[in-house]
Amino acid sequence: MNDSQRLNAVLQGLAVPTFVIDAEHVVTHWNAACEHLTGFTAGQMVGSRRQWMPFYTSERPVLADLIVDGVNELSMAAHYLGKLCRSTCIEGAYETEIFYPSLGEGGVWLFFTAAPLMALDGKIIGAIQTFQDITGRKRAEEELQKHREQLEEMVLQGKAELTEVNEELSHYAFVVSHDLRAPLRAIRNYSDFLREEIEEQLTDEQRQYLVGIGKALRQGENLVNDLLEYSHVGHKSIHKQRIEMRQFLHELIESIGVPAEAEVSMVEDWPELAADRTLLEQMFCNLVGNAIKFNRSSRKLVELGWRRNEEGDCEIFVRDNGIGIDSRFHTQIFGMFKRLHGHKEYEGTGIGLAIVHKAVLKLNGSVRLESQLGHGSTFYVTLPFWEGGEKR
Ligand code: ADP
Repeated sequence: MNDSQRLNAVLQGLAVPTFVIDAEHVVTHWNAACEHLTGFTAGQMVGSRRQWMPFYTSERPVLADLIVDGVNELSMAAHYLGKLCRSTCIEGAYETEIFYPSLGEGGVWLFFTAAPLMALDGKIIGAIQTFQDITGRKRAEEELQKHREQLEEMVLQGKAELTEVNEELSHYAFVVSHDLRAPLRAIRNYSDFLREEIEEQLTDEQRQYLVGIGKALRQGENLVNDLLEYSHVGHKSIHKQRIEMRQFLHELIESIGVPAEAEVSMVEDWPELAADRTLLEQMFCNLVGNAIKFNRSSRKLVELGWRRNEEGDCEIFVRDNGIGIDSRFHTQIFGMFKRLHGHKEYEGTGIGLAIVHKAVLKLNGSVRLESQLGHGSTFYVTLPFWEGGEKR
């Protein structure tokens, strides 16, 4: 048995489709697994240069031919649409994966490797090419990709429907709250007339009833006004402009009317932001208002400052020494009507932070908080800087 016969015996025992060519591109070995894969027998192939035939409709070099010719990597890759890699385990070998429509029933995906055969002096004396049928894996990948695309489409559709429902709800909130204003005003007027006319004859108990009506009315009016404000955040078109934050915040604090037992302090230097003035006012009115309201310290302290965060956006904080918020509620409190206390403890509608959340999203920003019950709260609002125009 000579070397070539010995090699042939080894290759025939191999389940991996394999063929070998010599330095003249002539097929010297074509094993049984290769016959099975290609439908071409060793008898048809050995001694010929027809190694291209099972794979292509016209003559062209296969990977083993390119290796024998010592073609450079770039030219070699051009034959395989740029999808060629160096083998990680065999020196001088290359591999790729290609779909061959002419093979099998409906085509076969092949992963194949071609490696040079070298003489002791390093001269290339031929090449060996091996194949792996990866059709199953590829079909599974295609199936997965199809499902992924379907899923993405469903998510997009769901999002569009959700936006529509949200818009309808927002519109509904607007109409209801708007139309409720008139009857509430009428109840207030008539109860005021009634009190003026029968003031003297009222018993203490009846007077308390009227106080109760007044309180309930105020709650109703606050709710209607907050709902209107909330629906405005969704409906009004946004006008992003340059906001000089130092001046903006000074004016805002003045307009809030900070009570005597509270103190609002802020850093000296402030940047310019790209934001809508009305939305910004709604956000900071609510945050600063809450910092004062949910505060039982004898000296209510509210601190405002900012920093440039890792993403290059402006992170503004509003810190208070108030009652604090249990970490269980840090996400929930941004929801509509979510309140952690009854009206007897603190007045409110539970809409303020929902407005902050909606407004900050409209401005391409975000809001979060750090707080511990009994140890004050810090709300962080992140917004884009003004950089000579709209950033995003
Ligand atoms: P409202 O102020 O009308 O109650 P918000 O939506 O503004 O509603 O706030 C929701 C809830 O979050 C409040 O009821 C309160 O329990 C809690 N909260 C908000 N801000 C603070 C704060 N700075 N400190 C402690 N609790 C707060």
